[in-house]
Amino acid sequence: MCDEGGQCHLQNMTVASGHAYREYEAEKRRYQSQELGPLIRQEMNRCITCYRCVRFYQDLAGGEDFGVFGSRDRVFFGRLQDGPLESPLAGNLAEVCPTGVFTDKVYHQDYLRPWDLEESTGICPHCSLGCNTRPGAARGRLRRVRQRPHAEINPYFLCDRGRYGFRYVAAENRPRQAQAGGRSQDFDGVLDRLAARLAEGRTAFLGSPREDLDSNLALFALARVLDAPFAAFFEPWEEAKAREILALPRPPAPASIPGYEEILVIGAVERVAPTLPLFLREAQRRGAAISLLRCLPSAFATLAVEDHLLPPADLLDAAWDWLGRRHHRPFLLLIDTESVGPELLHLLRREIGTWPDGSGILPVYRQANLPGASFYAVDGHASRLRAALAGNDCDHLLALGQDPQEMDLPWWRRHGDIDLSLIDHRHSLSWDGAWLTLPCAALSERPGLYYNGEGRLQAAAAAYTPAREERRWRPELGPFPLAAGGALREEVLPSPMALCRALAERLELSERWQERLRFYRDFLLRAAPRPGDPGVFLPEELRARFRLHSAPPPRATDQGWSVCRFSHYGEEELADSARELHSLAPARAAWIAPGQQDARHIRLRAADGTSRTLPLRALPGMAAEVLAIPRAELVFLGLRPGDGVEPEWLD
Ligand code: SF4
Ligand code: SF4
Repeated sequence: MCDEGGQCHLQNMTVASGHAYREYEAEKRRYQSQELGPLIRQEMNRCITCYRCVRFYQDLAGGEDFGVFGSRDRVFFGRLQDGPLESPLAGNLAEVCPTGVFTDKVYHQDYLRPWDLEESTGICPHCSLGCNTRPGAARGRLRRVRQRPHAEINPYFLCDRGRYGFRYVAAENRPRQAQAGGRSQDFDGVLDRLAARLAEGRTAFLGSPREDLDSNLALFALARVLDAPFAAFFEPWEEAKAREILALPRPPAPASIPGYEEILVIGAVERVAPTLPLFLREAQRRGAAISLLRCLPSAFATLAVEDHLLPPADLLDAAWDWLGRRHHRPFLLLIDTESVGPELLHLLRREIGTWPDGSGILPVYRQANLPGASFYAVDGHASRLRAALAGNDCDHLLALGQDPQEMDLPWWRRHGDIDLSLIDHRHSLSWDGAWLTLPCAALSERPGLYYNGEGRLQAAAAAYTPAREERRWRPELGPFPLAAGGALREEVLPSPMALCRALAERLELSERWQERLRFYRDFLLRAAPRPGDPGVFLPEELRARFRLHSAPPPRATDQGWSVCRFSHYGEEELADSARELHSLAPARAAWIAPGQQDARHIRLRAADGTSRTLPLRALPGMAAEVLAIPRAELVFLGLRPGDGVEPEWLD
């Protein structure tokens, strides 16, 4: 049976036009379909030669590894040879193809007829654009995610991270049991121990820029009633960047990009927010002049009127130079904040008042809800939290939705005696060694409020209630099929809000906690959107609070080699837990421009003396004397993009 059954345009048109019975008697043409990687499945025999796939993949998405081959009645739509499609937007082929030639391989693994899916209103949690989605679930499992058009954010398409990253909810190592000291325990027992520890008054609290607004506020309110330190970031550098992002005047919506005549792109925006190139390409088609400042390869290198390949430390001067030459027409700056530090954002936003009316900055970042986590804990809170933990004030950190060791491993190597408790729905580096752990419902399993990079607050509904198939007979055989008498049991993991409430009750602070929570919520949410609404904007007076702060201290830069972050489009903590996306990750390596070194390996040292040896690979289109390293390696070494390093070249 064809996966497209029930949603096939050709089938609908055939029946509607009264041609439901085939009269064609000659031999049908037959094709050999291709193997296109873990995301997309091809069945070429269903093709009606409408060319929609090529027009999308090449003309709109700018992909070069897919096209049309052959002639007459032998045309073939695919790649030159088998292999995963390279475009981060390839999953849209399953939506644009009107028949079932391209279908979701990920959905096929857990397939259901389309009319059996219950679709909900979701927000993509994998980057700061906040694309609108339609998660579809049945029998307690999330089966697929499709786009839900939002005229300002994602009028037509989702990227593959947004479409397939949802599989993190089904990750084999997703935590489902509460633990104490690495051993499974019942929820109540762990909550009792955690409450007793909080009552000692030596706990600091850490929120998360990937968690929804209410979860962060619930934890923040708990910290306040206990008079304990709270931060949304563990890393002061990340916090300073968040402050600069919040201080920007309201950024333009992604869909307004094609309206600009001049656009400066700083960094690798397409790696952070893979649907942005669709808007940039449209702008370029309408005649916009696109300029690039980058240290990594860019999909726009051939389209740009100016293209400067630079080490990260020189991006600021180059941006200044560009701005100095353009002061007549409104322009747009698109900034990949994963590649640049807070200093650049600070200086740019101080200049905004001198730009032509209608100019703007749109920052892009990985954390889907950064503003929602940062309102109450953005200025120096990370430093105060670290000082409290490193001194005598606190000896326990309760973190929600992020693993502080994954943010700054060298710091934790120096302060290994601090107890760490985690509330999360993702298995992280610290999970097995943490003092206490409490698994919680995933983002799609509970309603949530998310602030995107424009400062737009959007609501998502719970997409489904998880269920487990009960094993009734010979458990070693695995889940017993429902059709043969198995049963579904609801598996409700508590939301972070419910866990904070349970802790407040155990501490007999319930009323004060609720009062605080209500106060913060009323202050931030003068008009709370409902799922499906276009969203409401962050009030300008809230932004203005962040503009008063002083500049972040400049970081020392080196004139020699410097590091930048190498990321692939499927990368982001949650999406990377999805097996199919993770399988597309490039091998662990350090990347440099071709012809820079003959060595085959590189050793990099952290300030505390620990080192990392990585295979060395050449990457065309990179700046000279720049090393691109995956995020996990940067964190292990305690490095930030733009830091100078002294590499040791090895054979
Ligand atoms: S969109 Fe589908 S039906 Fe149309 S040409 Fe491409 S493969 Fe064939
Ligand atoms: S990852 Fe970003 S660009 Fe991709 S669908 Fe999600 S929000 Fe949109």
